[in-house]
This record gives sequence, C-alpha cells and structure tokens, in this order.
Amino acid sequence: MIAVLWALLTARMCSVAAAEPAAAEPEPEGKGAPFSAWVLRQHADVHPEPQYHFAAEVFHAIADAAAARPGVIEAQRLGESLAHRPIWAFSVHDTAVPVQKRLLLIANIHAMEWIPTEDALAFVLDYAAKPEPGVEVVVVPILNPDGRARVEADLVAGRNLYRRGNEAQVDLNRDWSVNRESKAIWRHLIPGRYTTSPAPLSQPETRAIDQLLRNTSDVPFSGFVSLHSFGGFIYYPWAGLFERAPDWGRMQGIAETMQGGMGPHAYRPRQLSRWAFFFRGLGMEIDHVYGEFGIPAFLVETTRSGIEGLPDLHTYFRWYNPREPARHVKMGLGMLRAWVTAEPLIQAMTSQPLADLPGSTK
Ligand SMILES: [Zn+2]
Repeated sequence: MIAVLWALLTARMCSVAAAEPAAAEPEPEGKGAPFSAWVLRQHADVHPEPQYHFAAEVFHAIADAAAARPGVIEAQRLGESLAHRPIWAFSVHDTAVPVQKRLLLIANIHAMEWIPTEDALAFVLDYAAKPEPGVEVVVVPILNPDGRARVEADLVAGRNLYRRGNEAQVDLNRDWSVNRESKAIWRHLIPGRYTTSPAPLSQPETRAIDQLLRNTSDVPFSGFVSLHSFGGFIYYPWAGLFERAPDWGRMQGIAETMQGGMGPHAYRPRQLSRWAFFFRGLGMEIDHVYGEFGIPAFLVETTRSGIEGLPDLHTYFRWYNPREPARHVKMGLGMLRAWVTAEPLIQAMTSQPLADLPGSTK
C-alpha cells in the first residue's frame, strides 16, 4: 500500500510537528551496557494496545527466551538511534552446529508499523525453540526506536498523529545508497513522489544495518527481509528501477517459497517498482542490500491493513496494525520459516557489485 499511503498522507506527514522530544533515559552503565543489564531498566505500563507489545515488552520477552536457552539467542548492540536509544540485533542459531548460512531480518523501520515487530518477535521465540541447523538468523525487531517511542507516547496520551520517520523526521526507507535517482518519466509530472533523504545513509539507524552487512565476513549474509505493513505483498528489487534485476528470477522463486509457507490468503510476490506503472521507491533498503552486497532482498508488506470499518479510516495506528494480530503473525511466521530454508546452505555470492551493473544508479 506504499503508494496509496503516499498519496493520502504526504500533506499530513509534513504537518506533523515534532511533538514532545522522546529522549532516551540516560544509561548508568554507559554505552557498553550489555543487553541483560539494559533490559532491566525498560518498563512499559498498562497501555491501550494490549494485543501489541510495547518496545520494553518486546525486549523483556526476548531476554526471557535468551535466559531460558543460553547461547541460542545472542544480543548485539548495532549502534544507537539519533535520540541515543540502542539498536539491538539478536542472533539466533543452533549452538550444536557451526553457522553455514546467515540471514538478516529487520522490522519497524517505519514508526507506526508495529505488526512487523510482532512478526519478528514471534520469529525469534519460535526459531530459538527450533532453529534450523547451520542457519543463523539475525533479527532487528525495532530499527526505528525513536519513531516508535513517539507512537507509544501518542497511544498512551490518546493522540492520533501520523508518524513515519525517525527522530529527525527522515523516512529511513528513502535513506539508502542505491537507485536514489529516478529515470521514470513520471517524475516530471509528480516530482513530489520521487523524493529521498538528503544524502545516502545520512541516519544512524540505516548506517547501523549497512555496517552490520559490511562487517560480517566469516559467514556473510546471504538473505535479507525487511518487514513493513500493509499491503499483502512480498516485494523484491528493484524498487527504484523499472528494469528487471539480474537475479530477479531467483528472487521471484524465493518469494514464491515464502508465499507457499503462508497458507490461505498468502502475500503475493512482485518486483517493487512494478507495484504501479508510476511507482518508484528511491533509495530503499532492498535496492541497497541487493545492489551493494548481492544479497537477495525482500520487503514484505504484512497484512492487508487493519481497517475494519469507517472509524478506522481516521485512526492512523489502525491502518497498519489490525486489532487482532495473532492470525497475521501466524502467517508471517510461516512465511519466515519458509524463507529460512528457501535456499541451500551454501549459496554462491554474486562476485560483482550489482550497483555497478548497467541500469542501476548510485
Ligand atoms: Zn513501511
């Protein structure tokens, strides 16, 4: 639903003022505080979305699972957000088998998209209980902790504000380095629809993921999923180019495997730029991960929205997050489980940087 929301919301997005600052609490243990110490200071009061986890509850659930299975879930601090909240990644793997394949799953890049975090949390807990031998999955359940903190504060205060960006109001999913310039003729007719952040990787949240991909050399990442909502699609690159990507057939195949794990009403695979004839997503995460690193990359628009009636049309949080997430989370889990085993353990990496291939821009 990327483009629909685009059209509906651009005016509102611009009018959302930076409400009260969402400063992170100071960290007595300093920046190096381990996850187990950090999480003890995280609290969530009773809140108006009991079917969803607030951030503190997400991390407590993971901490409990990590304590129950020592070594299976390992926390890694990737960096910190603009407002100095830690960005946590959790590596989940079978401790009895050496890692032969490594996958990266991120969620909640957009502030209001919470069901992706529910999917990511469910996956961490499920995968820790039954990991695929040799396959490590690194999960970042909340990539935009500052935006999310603002949404949490809105919900508690009963405010209905539209939020998408990070602390600096930057759309983190237009902040990557590949395909930032559109060649689409439509850009001349609707230029406001072809925007990016001021510079590639301008925000600490996007840089944290880029660095993780760049610094992981023993067993490099060979798969990437970014969970969004809503729309019911499994998108693959390119997002910013209409042309087919060199590996589009392979990515279509993986996406079909993911679709096959979902049961009825499964999400549908598609190249993102072909969502609509005028649509191009510039500087998006899947073009970066695929174009820079040669990793098959997927942006999943989970659910087909949470809108169940007219009143929901005026409640931004509901657009993205169905009242009863359980059924959707189950579908997401089936999809992610299928993704983990979609390709053989050893997968030859593309040797040439794809961003240098004809057609791609950087
Ligand atoms: Zn999104």
